[in-house]
Amino acid sequence: APAVGVLALQGDTREHLAALEAAGARAVSVRRAEELEAVDGLVIPGGESTTISKLAVAFGLMEPLRERIRAGMPAYGSCAGMIMLADKILDPRSGQETIGGIDMIVRRNAFGRQNESFEASLIMEGVDGGPVEGVFIRAPWVESTGAETTTLASYDGHAVAVRQGNLLATSFHPELTGDHRVHGLFTEMVRSAR
Ligand code: GLN
Repeated sequence: APAVGVLALQGDTREHLAALEAAGARAVSVRRAEELEAVDGLVIPGGESTTISKLAVAFGLMEPLRERIRAGMPAYGSCAGMIMLADKILDPRSGQETIGGIDMIVRRNAFGRQNESFEASLIMEGVDGGPVEGVFIRAPWVESTGAETTTLASYDGHAVAVRQGNLLATSFHPELTGDHRVHGLFTEMVRSAR
């Protein structure tokens, strides 16, 4: 099985580790550069993107993360993880950096106060067997994408799942639903990149 890391600086890493194992990957947490070197792919969890960004810099992981992604390592970001994979944030907090890799602009906390948390059934390209239950928690949406980026799912006219090459990102949290098809899709991406 491919070794898939979960960036374990902050956020819901445990749920991603469990979802990856259920999807047939060998899941390992990644906190240090040596651990990053050992994985075939990486999940960046939901949480708080400003905190993840600052901890990645403090742990000396930001540049190694950028290098591995530039070199083609598959990565999947959910929610805060989507923000971390965006080339650009519309409304960054001060000191907030991203790893980047996906040619897109994201808007943080985009769905607004009335809609801070909600669920929606989404048809997602690349995921067979019916809609995915999308859990959105203070979620970003994708404001715009470049020519290389494919939208896999939308909600209310906004892209909420995208792919560019070996990089996948969702505004929502499939790790919280017990449905492991999105982690299955990512594990397949890691397998074929190996
Ligand atoms: N609002 C958070 C952020 O901007 C993301 C929330 C989440 O990951 N559930 O980082």
